Amino acid sequence: MGKIKSPHVLVFPIPAKGHLIPLLDLSYVLASHGLSITILSITNEVSHLQPLLDTAASNALQIQPLILSIPAIQNIEELPLSQIPVFLQSLQTLADPLEQWFLQQQEQISDGFGFGPPVCMISDIFLGWTQETATKLGIPRVVFHPSGAFGVSVIYSLWAHMPHQGVESDDDPIPIPDLPVPTTFRKSQISPFLRMYKSSDPVSGFMRHSMNLNSKSWGTLINTFNDLEPIYIDHLQKLSARPAWSVGPLFLQREQKTDIVVREKPSSSIESVCLQWLNSQKEKSVLYICFGSMCILSNKQIQELAAGLEGSQQSFIWVLRDPSSGLPANEYGVLPDGFEERIQGRGLVIRGWAPQLLILSHSSIGGYLTHCGWNSTLESIASGVPLVTWPMFADQHFNCFLIVDYLKIGVRLCEGATTVPNREDL
Ligand code: UDP
Repeated sequence: MGKIKSPHVLVFPIPAKGHLIPLLDLSYVLASHGLSITILSITNEVSHLQPLLDTAASNALQIQPLILSIPAIQNIEELPLSQIPVFLQSLQTLADPLEQWFLQQQEQISDGFGFGPPVCMISDIFLGWTQETATKLGIPRVVFHPSGAFGVSVIYSLWAHMPHQGVESDDDPIPIPDLPVPTTFRKSQISPFLRMYKSSDPVSGFMRHSMNLNSKSWGTLINTFNDLEPIYIDHLQKLSARPAWSVGPLFLQREQKTDIVVREKPSSSIESVCLQWLNSQKEKSVLYICFGSMCILSNKQIQELAAGLEGSQQSFIWVLRDPSSGLPANEYGVLPDGFEERIQGRGLVIRGWAPQLLILSHSSIGGYLTHCGWNSTLESIASGVPLVTWPMFADQHFNCFLIVDYLKIGVRLCEGATTVPNREDL
């Protein structure tokens, strides 16, 4: 008699770190519960999966990559926001190869090889079209939301009702329909890629159709926890009339704070520099400053932030991302002359990828100046660190509202990707 195979789940992330990291964490949790997991990669090289594959292998867990690459794929983190819907639409070309792969898995099962065909697909909120693929293959699809329940509720309302259509001015308030509590955002707070819609434009038509397909999924997973935003979790459940599970904060399931699941593993020397430096600071005295994996500050923003930090006499760790290939290198990422010498002992500047979980959970951290990315928000909440908010785009304005107005665990500094904050306010 053949060995009984464990249920096999296909996981389909998008390659933006804020989406990818929690879905890889979830994959690890599912594998730890005895499921076999295949993770789809749209690039030929799987170095972003390697730390996870290695950890899984050393713990005898069943996780394998599936490479279905797209030619000339660009790095989503280097794309202008307006190009993201085009990128997401291009992923739809994977529907056919995915179906072929599924059929191969069915053939393999009769040979007794491999994981067999998946019994379920878990895919990102921006891959609503995979609902149609899953239906065709006869398997349930579960939609994964890397954002919080409040932010996701706003996003679904926007795509379903388009309340921003016809609103001219960026400052005009837009009531968001069908939320459990009346909520209003200004047009400027709704990222263009979340609100662009012209019926004649095939890309925006695709986005709307794809987002609305999520309501047909068999179930909903949200990287949040019940005590944080219960009315919005209930709301999402009612919206689709399907089960909605809050499974977060997913990073807490990671075995070690440093066991980051993507390629940008901070070097162990950065980890030890940070730890040594934090150990030398007073309890709850340090402001941590980081704007996630996609926001890159212009020199004007950096100058003002640097002047504010210098003037404040505050201890800080500041993570600065270098400009991506599409941006002029001389206009982004440059600190004022002599800044690092002047703040020595009181401030630490990290260039590139910082060990954020390690930093936020250190007892010397007293606050986090954040772009309000959802993962960063959850990580700060879980570490008991209050927030100073500077939302830039995507769901960040909605998360800022949750932090400051609903949960009251943060204060606003400013908002907008190109805003230059006032050094005095800082
Ligand atoms: N992160 C990190 N080091 C960095 C910058 C970011 O470890 O230098 C991690 C952070 O801990 C979080 C994720 O990257 O888990 C960023 O996700 P988030 O949703 O906060 O923001 P996004 O990058 O999507 O804007």
